[in-house]
Amino acid sequence: MEGLMMQQPLLVASLLTHAERHHGGQEIVSRRVEGDIHRYTYRDLAQRARRLANALAALGIGPGERVGTLAWNGYRHMELYFAASGSGSVLHTLNPRLHVDQLAYIFDHAEDRVVFFDLTFLPLIESAAPLLKSPKIFVAMTDRAHMPSKHNVPIMLMCYEDLIKGSNDEFDWPLLDENSAASLCYTSGTTGNPKGVLYSHRSTVLHTYAAALPDSLNCSARDSILPVVPMFHVNAWGLPYIACMVGAKLVFPGPALDGKSLYELIEGEQVTLSAGVPTVWQGLLTHVGERRGEFSSMRRTVIGGAACSTAMATEFQEQYRVDVLHAWGMTELSPVGTVCSFKAHHEALPRQDRYAVQSKQGRALFGIDMKIVGPDGEAMPWDGVAAGDLLVRGHWVAMNYFGSEGASPLRDGWFPTGDVAKIDPDGFMHITDRSKDVIKSGGEWISSIDIENVACLHPQVAMAVCIAARHPKWDERPLLLVVRKPGSDVDSQALLEFFDGRVAKWWKPDAIVFVESVPLGGTGKVLKNQLREQYGDYYLTA
Ligand code: AMP
Repeated sequence: MEGLMMQQPLLVASLLTHAERHHGGQEIVSRRVEGDIHRYTYRDLAQRARRLANALAALGIGPGERVGTLAWNGYRHMELYFAASGSGSVLHTLNPRLHVDQLAYIFDHAEDRVVFFDLTFLPLIESAAPLLKSPKIFVAMTDRAHMPSKHNVPIMLMCYEDLIKGSNDEFDWPLLDENSAASLCYTSGTTGNPKGVLYSHRSTVLHTYAAALPDSLNCSARDSILPVVPMFHVNAWGLPYIACMVGAKLVFPGPALDGKSLYELIEGEQVTLSAGVPTVWQGLLTHVGERRGEFSSMRRTVIGGAACSTAMATEFQEQYRVDVLHAWGMTELSPVGTVCSFKAHHEALPRQDRYAVQSKQGRALFGIDMKIVGPDGEAMPWDGVAAGDLLVRGHWVAMNYFGSEGASPLRDGWFPTGDVAKIDPDGFMHITDRSKDVIKSGGEWISSIDIENVACLHPQVAMAVCIAARHPKWDERPLLLVVRKPGSDVDSQALLEFFDGRVAKWWKPDAIVFVESVPLGGTGKVLKNQLREQYGDYYLTA
């Protein structure tokens, strides 16, 4: 027998119409690239998103077509989130920290029809445009007064505010299929080129429900939320959608992510909840510590993207009375998978023991199922001791990559995360290692394979292996181990200079260690885990 309930598709635009109707007067505050602070309300957001949806239609952007963005966290980016997805096209956020060759590859692979960019990124657009195989429309996200008078974008450059001004604010959000694509985000693959994860309307709305819950990111209409995590990195962990669902005030930091600017914004806008990677919080804690400041409104901070150290969790909680929510996720998971929220029995533990619990990545949100498996694929016990490959499945987990001709990454319907973890009897997952061959520096990926490939282009290098070494500021940095060709005397400086222009500046290894040989396994593969054990603390001890 069928249930007798309405069938309403789960659509991204419904988050915006809800926010407009129920929280129309709630504020959205943005620090802009133009240097000032901009304020408006959800009512204004909705009206301008409708204008923008009309503008996209006038530019000829049809259903399912990709709308690229290269932008900081700000209200115009938020308008694009809803105008693009809501009207049936696909919001495609790109990471401006990538090398221009990679950006050009991604623009073309995604077949973006139009690219919206913040003024900061004009030089990047100028370098990428000549490399593109398919033509695009470029729109600078600013007003007429700030439009660049000179530029090298080969075709006409449009002005965002002109588009908004010239468009009607009446637009009926279409009743889309909830399984249609809403947004796209590329992640650095462990092998080969970056891969696109294509979120659906349904997966986005379900993720929003689950991530907003009290034991998840714990968001409400009484919150003032500062997403420091970029809107180009997995949709700022879903916070733009969550804020609409719950009616929270939103505070966008724009390009100013240093400790001082963040602190001013947190205090000035009475932020109650913030979210970002450990590296950003390190900068904030240093700034606040130096001036012996305190947080007058901030009550919680979500720390994820890389492991939150016990020292950081302790400092936030002991010194500043800011609760830490340690979270784990992935681009392929929209991204939130687990959050470390206490169960009732943890509350009674001594403080130090509670901090120890918080070093774990936490328990799964409803909607995510996880397991750990051994080399034979057999499920391992949740005893807090056995460690295995972490696999997940759920409503907002990718089943394949965008435009991928390759086989599905799934293993018997489960997505292999590339993380190695233990799970305790309470269901708290703890990452102990990573089987995927990538380096996460300040929350962003560096491909060790790309680094090795560049090093091997050097005529005096016989073999190069790049590993992630722990780093006090960036969490991890690339360390390159090199076997020289016989008779070669190439030194670190020359080899490091060889990287200039070949990879993004911040991808360059911090150091090179010359070795006689590297350990190989039975099949001739380099045993990177052995090298990580030997050299993993290089930057901590150097
Ligand atoms: P991304 O797709 O860029 O969001 O990166 C996802 C990966 O970042 C995960 O598979 C982990 O390797 C790592 N990661 C994310 N959150 C955490 C965390 N809380 N602790 C340790 N590693 C994390």
